[in-house]
Amino acid sequence: MKTVTIHDKEFVPYLKHEEIQELIKNLAEKVHEDYKDEVPVFIGVLNGVIMFFSDFLKHYPGKCEIAFLQVSSYTGTQSTGIVYKKMDLTKEVEGRHIILMEDIVDTGNTIESLFEYFKNTQRPKSLKVASLLLKPEVFKKDFKIDYVAKEIPNKFVLGYGLDYDEQGRNLPDLYQLAEGRINH
Ligand code: 5GP
Repeated sequence: MKTVTIHDKEFVPYLKHEEIQELIKNLAEKVHEDYKDEVPVFIGVLNGVIMFFSDFLKHYPGKCEIAFLQVSSYTGTQSTGIVYKKMDLTKEVEGRHIILMEDIVDTGNTIESLFEYFKNTQRPKSLKVASLLLKPEVFKKDFKIDYVAKEIPNKFVLGYGLDYDEQGRNLPDLYQLAEGRINH
């Protein structure tokens, strides 16, 4: 893995694709333990979740359905509050067990807002969240993230679906911003 530069910012290798797969496999099996008698609906929160969502589904050993919706809360490396670019949920999930699938939970604002949206508009039977990554130093909400593949330090990460200014999502591995911290 080599250093990657996007818009003059340098990103250093952090987690290899194979290591990410191992984390996701463990996560998928853990989720399945809780849902093996159900057919949950996994809801991918676009865009960052694309790679995680696809790999998670390949590792999930049980029956399930999927849906998507799109939100955005970042401009470049700065959190700008949640902007619902497109809130159209691709499937009715009323009365279903739903699991929101996120690439990364940072402040938790996105998930908090999505919880409200789902509780108010969809009345699911149950509502949980699974995230590939969590930054515990930043996340200070009073609800918990039910399933987390890996907790990471408060450094901006790129690749494996996660972008910097819309680029880098196609990188198969994860990278960290070389200069480290980002002020949100
Ligand atoms: P939150 O609402 O929890 O603060 O942020 C969640 C969203 O912010 C994520 O879905 C992701 O799009 C973006 N985000 C948070 N931290 C990072 C990061 O380190 N790298 C990238 N590329 N996006 C991030």
